[in-house]
Amino acid sequence: MSKLRVGTIWLDGCSGCHMSFLDMDERIVELSQYMDVVYSPYVDAKEIPEDLDLFIVEGALSTDHDLEIIKDIRKNSKKILALGDCAITGNVSAMKNLAGTDAVLEKGYFDLADFNKGKYPDKIIPKLLDKVIPLNEAIDVDYFVPGCPTPADAIYAVLKGLVDGVEVDVSKYTRFGL
Ligand code: SF4
Repeated sequence: MSKLRVGTIWLDGCSGCHMSFLDMDERIVELSQYMDVVYSPYVDAKEIPEDLDLFIVEGALSTDHDLEIIKDIRKNSKKILALGDCAITGNVSAMKNLAGTDAVLEKGYFDLADFNKGKYPDKIIPKLLDKVIPLNEAIDVDYFVPGCPTPADAIYAVLKGLVDGVEVDVSKYTRFGL
């Protein structure tokens, strides 16, 4: 059996869900018999590869660059797994929506800035979207695995289920806000 080609990425998240991936500990070695992680913060790959079997995405979408990336991922991956509450609902990342983009920029670059006060770095960082959105508002998502962070047991159960071709009830391992 050929190994699954897997990518992972964190977009507008805190990296906590990726830390949970590492918390699978020795189970990562077991899974490595069945899958190769070919793009990820864990590996040194600069470009999103073509022809992936699965992409695991942490975080919501908050910039125009996030939108470009997620569309690229959708184009290049057979299945997409939304990992964690930020990817699924917006969660903490979407708290910005309560105040609005202009108010957040003003707070960060006017009120609280220690240097370059009042200058938006609009040429060197991606443009913020008007609203932070979860993945499924931009693309089709195949799997949703909630949690904040998603527990390692849930990630392992889902990945092993995919390898074995078995449907997994994620509610046995995780829930929103866990
Ligand atoms: S769901 Fe929680 S742990 Fe995961 S990226 Fe969002 S804030 Fe971090």
